[in-house]
Amino acid sequence: MSNDGISTLQSVLQRHGATRALHLHLVDRLAEAPALLRRHYPGQRYTVVVDALTAGLAGDQIALAVGAGMVTVAPRRDGSVVAGRVEAEQVTRQLREQNTQVAIAVGAGTLNDLTKFASQQLGIPACVVATATSMNGYTSACAALLDGGVKVSVPCAAPRLVIAPVDLLCQAPARMIAAGFGDLRSRPVSGADWYLGHRLLGTPYAAEALHLVDAAAHLASASVAHLVERTPAAIAQLAAALLLSGMAMDIAGTSAPSSGGEHLISHCLDMFHYAHGGPQDLHGCQVGVATLAAAHLYERLLATDVLSLTSQLTSQPTPPPEESWDDLAQRLAPHFGSLWATVQPVAREVHGDADHRRARLEVLRRDWPTTRRSLRDILGHDPVSTRDLLLAGAPVRFVDLGLSPGDTRAALLHARFVRARYTILDLAADLGMLETWVDELLATGGL
Ligand SMILES: [Zn+2]
Repeated sequence: MSNDGISTLQSVLQRHGATRALHLHLVDRLAEAPALLRRHYPGQRYTVVVDALTAGLAGDQIALAVGAGMVTVAPRRDGSVVAGRVEAEQVTRQLREQNTQVAIAVGAGTLNDLTKFASQQLGIPACVVATATSMNGYTSACAALLDGGVKVSVPCAAPRLVIAPVDLLCQAPARMIAAGFGDLRSRPVSGADWYLGHRLLGTPYAAEALHLVDAAAHLASASVAHLVERTPAAIAQLAAALLLSGMAMDIAGTSAPSSGGEHLISHCLDMFHYAHGGPQDLHGCQVGVATLAAAHLYERLLATDVLSLTSQLTSQPTPPPEESWDDLAQRLAPHFGSLWATVQPVAREVHGDADHRRARLEVLRRDWPTTRRSLRDILGHDPVSTRDLLLAGAPVRFVDLGLSPGDTRAALLHARFVRARYTILDLAADLGMLETWVDELLATGGL
């Protein structure tokens, strides 16, 4: 891209990064990475963390240029490289054995998560050289690790130095680029969910984080027309958008600004994949499709006469849904199977009690005109449009992710039990409408 374009994006990143003591470098060429590493961490013992693929792409070159040691994460039996507890402990041990002072992930989500986790354990800074614009976790302050078949989010320091070389990012597989766009496509619904939680449960809502998420969404939309061609300008915009979006989670102290019900659906698919061999796609591809589903549910909510529905519900001694915890647990246990032991305490918390449900419905009824207006503003006029995802080459239907209609229905109904975070899925359930709306959506929504 033009030097002007990249330096404008770079100055935006630098300005935002400085507020978090993060050094973010969007650069034209991978060849610029070694000098940046040496500039920020002069005279240190570096180790690069790679897998077989990223070693060939960039890891070997960087290790040679800065005189770094190397840790290569081995694939599992099925050939996939996983950010699991076992791998995380292996990486930690190897970094320790090499007396590493600065760990450098060369890769995308998996290698970045492993390196962040291991660096946190060792009390050393983590850096990352990004190889794909596939997700927004580069700058986030947590690592998603697979632990006992379940993805857990482990808090740890964000990488202090992120280098995004546009020439390398342009070579990433098309599906990974589409996934990065899909991850950012969650903005309307994750923003609406975050707002809902704030409105109905009083959870914190940070304007500064929202501002960054908006800046990220704006850059992502600007990039979409040329992502499939992988023009350096479009890839640079997407990379900058992903870095800003990850930082927003860091600033908010929660992933909520960029992660609502659509992410719960994606997590649920991941859990079923690891535990029961269910279908799985790249995180951002799942998030993009799930975003459309959540956006459809929001449209149903906004078209509903919420005032009379909530009046009816709150006038009853126990507002529906009246299912007891025992009945619900009996229904959910066979569905989650071996995952149930892990999910059960979260599901119990999500189910809550009738008093809290009534309180939420009363707040909803009292403030509905304002809430409705704000939700419409956050969602935009057409959040269910598939146009931008299709332009980015991303999937738009659950069947594109390999899910049957039955799998899809189960994921939409049960995803809310895998993490206690209030989203449109919970609100639809509070209103006693989740099943009806999901069934309508599956019958008519083309998902
Ligand atoms: Zn995500």
